[in-house]
Amino acid sequence: MSASATIASIKTHLTDLGMPGSLEVIDGLMAKLDNGSMSPAEAMEHLLAAQVALRRERRLVSAMHSSRLPSIKRLDTFDFSFQPSIDRNQIMSLHELTFIERKENVILLGPAGVGKTHIAISLAVTAAEKGKRIYFSTLSDLILSLVEAEKQGRLREKLNFLKGPSLLVVDEIGYIPVTASGTNLFFQLVNARYERASTVLTSDKSFKEWGEVFGDPVVASAMLDRLLHHCHIVNIKGNSYRLRQYPGLSLPYEQQSPGRRTKRKSQEVLA
Ligand code: ADP
Ligand code: MG
Repeated sequence: MSASATIASIKTHLTDLGMPGSLEVIDGLMAKLDNGSMSPAEAMEHLLAAQVALRRERRLVSAMHSSRLPSIKRLDTFDFSFQPSIDRNQIMSLHELTFIERKENVILLGPAGVGKTHIAISLAVTAAEKGKRIYFSTLSDLILSLVEAEKQGRLREKLNFLKGPSLLVVDEIGYIPVTASGTNLFFQLVNARYERASTVLTSDKSFKEWGEVFGDPVVASAMLDRLLHHCHIVNIKGNSYRLRQYPGLSLPYEQQSPGRRTKRKSQEVLA
């Protein structure tokens, strides 16, 4: 077979296999092979990497439609030097996603602006790119949807739907207090996912304060019991990234009470 016939045949194979990412780069790679600026091994690697990158992008686009992710955040834009209390190795290793295989949870704790949602989204984005089903919600939206489903007699269906994703992100636990019935519904969801699928939660409140957030220390403690049973905790103590241009507005780490919340200057300013 002549060289041009071989290339044409490779292109047919790539089309048959549904590999448009590789198809798009093959001519450029052949040119580099011909002029000796790339080795055959490198060319093969690039050919496959182009397809993997396209698949990742397509998975993410489709996840963006169905998962309600508010934005795309990745670790490559996360400045670890700004947040020295974060164990970079722990975050990198969580991004390998073995916690999802083991159906473990991740809880990110810390005051506003320290990157909890950024890291939670970045875990969800990585999972979506690997083809995992993900779903994102704030706690208050999640509870609203559960309350609504219960009213319409569709609670079972809703709980089944929320049981499905390999990774559920529940953001902003603690900003808005939850009603007794909301707490009860969320507890049912936590129970339904316990040891079946991973949940990533973020909160600006310490666990001790969850009793207050959920208006019922007994249910909150039963919920924490399940959530913490197989769980990675990321406790972030630091300044708000949003307020980084105004260092005077952030409370120094040592004054950020892990227990009772003190009203922070930044919150007074932003109120
Ligand atoms: P939190 O959820 O803890 O309140 P976010 O994750 O929403 O904080 O962070 C607030 C904003 O600052 C977001 O736009 C986020 O991408 C950005 N951000 C936070 N921490 C960092 C960081 N260390 N490096 C880069 N961007 C950050
Ligand atoms: Mg947040």
